[in-house]
Amino acid sequence: MTVTAIVGANWGDEGKGKMTDYLAGQADIVVRFQGGNNAGHTIINEYGRFALHLLPSGIFYPQVLNILGPGVALNIPAFLKELDQLRQHGLPEPAIRISNRAQVILPYHLLLDAYEEARLGDQQFGSTKQGIAPFYADKYLKLGLQVADLFDEARLRARLQASLAIKNVLFEHLYRQPRIEVEALLPDLMRAGEQIQPFVCDTVSLLHTALAQDKQILLEGQLGALRDPDHGIYPYSTSSSPLAGFATVGAGLPPYAIQRVIAVAKAYSSCVGAGPFVTELFGSEGEALRRRGGDKGEYGATTGRPRRVGWFDAVATRYGCQVQGATEVALTLLDVLGYLDEIPICTAYDVDGSITEQFPEPAALDRARPIFERWPGWRCDISEIRRFEQLPRNAQTYVLRIEELLGTPVKWISVGPKREAVIIR
Ligand code: GDP
Repeated sequence: MTVTAIVGANWGDEGKGKMTDYLAGQADIVVRFQGGNNAGHTIINEYGRFALHLLPSGIFYPQVLNILGPGVALNIPAFLKELDQLRQHGLPEPAIRISNRAQVILPYHLLLDAYEEARLGDQQFGSTKQGIAPFYADKYLKLGLQVADLFDEARLRARLQASLAIKNVLFEHLYRQPRIEVEALLPDLMRAGEQIQPFVCDTVSLLHTALAQDKQILLEGQLGALRDPDHGIYPYSTSSSPLAGFATVGAGLPPYAIQRVIAVAKAYSSCVGAGPFVTELFGSEGEALRRRGGDKGEYGATTGRPRRVGWFDAVATRYGCQVQGATEVALTLLDVLGYLDEIPICTAYDVDGSITEQFPEPAALDRARPIFERWPGWRCDISEIRRFEQLPRNAQTYVLRIEELLGTPVKWISVGPKREAVIIR
C-alpha cells in the first residue's frame, strides 16, 4: 500500500498535473486536498489537451476514483462545466466523489475578490479572481458553507444570513456596490446542491476504507511550496496550504499515512502574479524562455497571463523540497532548455552583502540577488529520450548537479508535455 503526495516544490505550474496523470495509471484513487479552480493543470494524453482546474488529474482513467476532499474550495458551476467539457471529448465517464464537508465558493466570494483587487489598484496581488481568498477567509471566520448544508434549506438560509450580514456592510460602505440578499442566492444554491448530490459522500470514511484495503492513493497538490501561507512568499501566497503535510488534513487521512512525497520541480523557474522572484529574467532573454516553456509557452492555464520566468533557483527549490518533506523529486520541462549554450543555476543569494544558501523570510527576499554558476547546454531535442543514460552528457550533468544541490534524489525527469515523455531513474 502506498499513499503518495504529488506536490509543487516551486511557485506552482511545475507540471504536477502531468506527473499525476502519468502516475495515476497505477493508482486506485486520486485526491485533491486544497485550493479550487484558481490554478490549472495542463494534461496532454490520448484524449487531447486539457486544462483541468478543479477535477483531479486521475479522471482520464475509468478505474480511478477521483475525490474532491474536505480541504477543497468547491466552485459548483465551474465543477459542472469542467465535467461537461470532458464528456464532450468522449472520455469514459469518470468516477468522482465530493466530500460532504468540502466548502462551497459562493457568488459573493467572486465579487469580493474582484472588488478588493480593484480597490487595491496597482497594489493588487494578481488574484485569479476565483474568490479563493474570500472563500478561505470565510471558512476560518466560521462563515463558510459546507456541501452538506446545501441539502438543508433552513440551515442554508441561516448560514447565508450570518455571512451576508458582514458582506453587505463591505459592499455598501467600502466597495460602494449593491447589497446581496439571501433570497436571491437560495434557488441557485439549492439547485446546485441537487446537481452535485450524486457525487457527494463521506469521502473520509471512503479513504480510510481504501487505506485498510491497501489501495494506491495519490494526493494531488495545487500550486507549490512557495505559495504556502506559512512557509511561502507571504503575502504573495495562496490561501490554503499546498504542502504534503496538509494533504492528510485536506484529504482526511492519518498524518503518518503518506509514505512518498514527490516534489515536482521545474528545470527552470516560473511564477505567476506579483511577489519576489529572485532569478527572474527580463527582456529578450526572458521572452526566449517564456516562448519555449510549457507546452505552448509559459502562459497561465486559468488566466492566460504571461508567466514570469527565470533560471533554476536551487535556494528556493531546496527549501521547497524541505518544507514539502520530499522523498523524491520529479524534475520537469528539462526539454525546454535545449536551445541554450549555457544554463545558469542559482546556488546562493546575496542579501545585503551576505551570502546565504538558506531561503530567507519574505521581508528579506526583495533584497536578495542571485548568485549563479553556469553549466554547458546540450543544444538538441531530448523529448523522445526515455533513458537517463541516453540523455546528452551535459543534460545528465545538469540533472545531477540539481540533485546534488537539492539533496533529494531526482527519480523522474519529464522531457515533454505528453504523458509518456518521462524518464524514470
Ligand atoms: P501544474 O499546475 O503543476 O500541473 O502545471 P501547469 O499545467 O500549470 O504547467 C505546466 C506546463 O508545462 C503545462 O503547459 C504542461 O503541459 C507543460 N509540461 C509539463 N511537463 C512538461 C515537460 O516535461 N516538458 C514540456 N515542454 N512541457 C511540460
